[in-house]
Amino acid sequence: MKILDKEFEIFIPKEKIQQRIQELAYDLSYKLDGKDPLFVAILNGAFMFASDLFKEISIPARITFIKTASYAGTETTGSVQKLIGLKENVNGQHIVLVDDIFDTGLTMKAVCEEMWKQNPASISVLTLLDKVSKHKTDLKIDFKGFEIPDKFVLGYGLDYNGYGRNLKDIYALAD
Ligand code: 5GP
Ligand code: MG
Ligand code: MG
Repeated sequence: MKILDKEFEIFIPKEKIQQRIQELAYDLSYKLDGKDPLFVAILNGAFMFASDLFKEISIPARITFIKTASYAGTETTGSVQKLIGLKENVNGQHIVLVDDIFDTGLTMKAVCEEMWKQNPASISVLTLLDKVSKHKTDLKIDFKGFEIPDKFVLGYGLDYNGYGRNLKDIYALAD
């Protein structure tokens, strides 16, 4: 499939994504039972994952959305911005940070550091995709959907210069 100037091929089909989300939601609901968790999803990339996952959470829970920006085109720029839009009181709360993809991990690390300043009871890190070979931080991922190789992916919320977020499957840049 051609998106802008690049050719993409199917990488993770929608059925597999949805199946994995059910497993993750089951695991999260079990581990966070009684903790009244606050899910904090990172826009824009995580919106679709957060929405599908949250529907499968079977315990009382809240969700809110924040923004950061660190990516332009297919290469990370390395500059991570601060959190925008967090209105909830995080103090004493069990936080689940939700992102689409963990690449260098610098975005998630920056978000965690900002969050810790507000004295949450705990922070769990949840990502749909994990590019294991790209990590530049030792931040621990508590829950993940899929480990993937170092490929640029799009679809299911993830974009290439703004396009491709609407796709139900995840695609990778064709070699
Ligand atoms: P990190 O800070 O972990 O290097 O990058 C995290 C952010 O970069 C992700 O939340 C995502 O928005 C973006 N990103 C990293 N890898 C990819 C990729 O392969 N495809 C897309 N579309 N975005 C990516
Ligand atoms: Mg993102
Ligand atoms: Mg992006």
